[in-house]
Amino acid sequence: MSALKPSQLAALKIHLNELQQQLEVFLNLDEAAAGTVELDQGKVGRLSRIDALQQQAMAQANSEVHKQQLVRVHRALHKIEQGDYGYCDECGEAIPFARLQVQPESDFCVKCLQTQENTG
Ligand SMILES: [Zn+2]
Repeated sequence: MSALKPSQLAALKIHLNELQQQLEVFLNLDEAAAGTVELDQGKVGRLSRIDALQQQAMAQANSEVHKQQLVRVHRALHKIEQGDYGYCDECGEAIPFARLQVQPESDFCVKCLQTQENTG
């Protein structure tokens, strides 16, 4: 039994579906950017090659972030299906709707997230 109202749950599900589509677009862009480094020395100078490699590294880092976020979005959508969405994975307390509106893929309440960050 979810602590969220059905209307809140419906809104968050729409949000998660949009987020999923957005992340899939981002991932395609990341992968395209991460794969296209022009190493032809005749065409690009040394500086622009360094630029390109930096952009590639950034795209790879972004890709990792987006992949992890997509995993959390999938997990959240699965939880909605199971009817146990909106609870902290750590302490089991209901995550406030305000927090879920900002980050619908959250696995943890703010308290547990802070504890995790502090313990590394
Ligand atoms: Zn918690």
